[in-house]
Amino acid sequence: MPKAPKNALPVTREQNYPEWYQQVIKAADMAEASPVRGCMVIKPWGYGLWENIQKALDAKFKATGHVNAYFPLFIPMSFLEKEAEHVEGFAKECAVVTHHRLEPKPDGSGLRPAGELEEPLIVRPTSETIIGSMYAKWVQSYRDLPILINQWANVVRWEMRTRLFLRTAEFLWQEGHTAHATEAEALEETRKMLDVYADFAENWMAMPVIKGEKTADERFPGAVSTLCIEAMMQDRKALQAGTSHYLGQNFSKAQEIEFQNAEGEQEYAYTTSWGVSTRLIGGLIMTHADDDGMVLPPKLAPSQVVILPIYRSDEERAEVLDYVKSLAEELRQQRYGDEPIRVEIDDRDLRGGEKKWQWVKKGVPIRLEIGPKDIAKNAVFRGIRDTGETAGVSRDECVATIHGTLDAIQSRMFAKALAFQEQNTKTMTDLDEFKSFFKGDDDSSTVGGFVIAHFIEGCPVMEKILKDLKVTPRCVPLDFEDEPGQCLFSGEPTNKRAIFAKAY
Ligand code: AMP
Repeated sequence: MPKAPKNALPVTREQNYPEWYQQVIKAADMAEASPVRGCMVIKPWGYGLWENIQKALDAKFKATGHVNAYFPLFIPMSFLEKEAEHVEGFAKECAVVTHHRLEPKPDGSGLRPAGELEEPLIVRPTSETIIGSMYAKWVQSYRDLPILINQWANVVRWEMRTRLFLRTAEFLWQEGHTAHATEAEALEETRKMLDVYADFAENWMAMPVIKGEKTADERFPGAVSTLCIEAMMQDRKALQAGTSHYLGQNFSKAQEIEFQNAEGEQEYAYTTSWGVSTRLIGGLIMTHADDDGMVLPPKLAPSQVVILPIYRSDEERAEVLDYVKSLAEELRQQRYGDEPIRVEIDDRDLRGGEKKWQWVKKGVPIRLEIGPKDIAKNAVFRGIRDTGETAGVSRDECVATIHGTLDAIQSRMFAKALAFQEQNTKTMTDLDEFKSFFKGDDDSSTVGGFVIAHFIEGCPVMEKILKDLKVTPRCVPLDFEDEPGQCLFSGEPTNKRAIFAKAY
């Protein structure tokens, strides 16, 4: 075996965190930049991850009473205009379709758009307005409510600064859109879906999150309130990983989603929307990957176990392949979660060391290397990705403990990320401490964290300080009780606390 490199990636988190992030994606072959500005190509290993995210979330949506449907990619401009805050919030990042065909330029030098549309169409940045226009038709009576629909789709937001997975101009997501007869029911829905997201983040992604409410400045355009889950990345910045919006009657008034209530009166429906996107994959990377590449939580890994057959001759090859195929079958007999364990055999004609490192970089949770010597002992050489531990174990033990091994990896990854988040969350009552905590290079891997502090929403002193430091209030955590104190920035009395951080 060739000597292992010190680190599999050309750059470490410590050396250059943003560059490390790009290198993880490249080394794991998850995605790459495309010829289209701000849009990425999601490659099979990244897309397999997205499919597993979709599968798990979709099951949770269905278990909470939702169904899937599909609405158009295009939104007439006039629809977006109906909700003033909404259009203002999205106007700066809309892709607009103005023509419906191409024609040759008169000088023959290529093509130009022709057939101008009477009304421009917007490529959906989010679908509240187009979906709401249909709900307006579908809802007449309280008996038609609630509507609990989710859509899996792509959306476009013309982002100026893009980064693979975290922020792209086109991204994949799901958007839930629900309409209810009462405010209480809609509020309950908003909260319920936040809990679904938090459960998914923690128990599937092994990514600890804080559930909270956004301050007015950070709210979704047109929402009455925005709930979110916030996670801490390894550079101690926050990632908003999912949002659940209570829209009150703002959109139903704009879209005329009206119904007759049980008392025979006309009323506007109460609506919600909630979404998570391919950004979650960026969150997975920045929560778990290390200087050797990706580290995947078993529940979402496209392959949970990879078997690497090792041989020198055709004769050995036949023997080893027989052995690994029967082992793979035996492992696939067991289930992890709701599905058979995902086992892959990598029999590509590559040097053993190179092959092994490719799988390390892809983050597959368990590697099993098997050659004639192992077969003679009825044993396997097992590598565990998250701890880096390698050991020879008997085949029987490997098979018998596979479920427990995957479970242990999943729990260990969560525990490690949670400890990191807790270690880097501080309560502060001193403004100078706050300032020096966040001072420093934005791209540094060693600055900042989460700060819990008393604050007053909209306080101008706070806004100035936060702007200078490039820090934002991430959320007011839902489990924070009111507690008397003083605004960290102005010294005025307040009962409210928020979590502050630099963010993606
Ligand atoms: P929003 O509709 O703004 O509440 O966003 C819904 C979800 O999409 C949130 O989880 C966001 O983190 C995510 N999201 C927003 N903008 C982008 C983007 N440009 N690329 C990837 N994900 C995004």
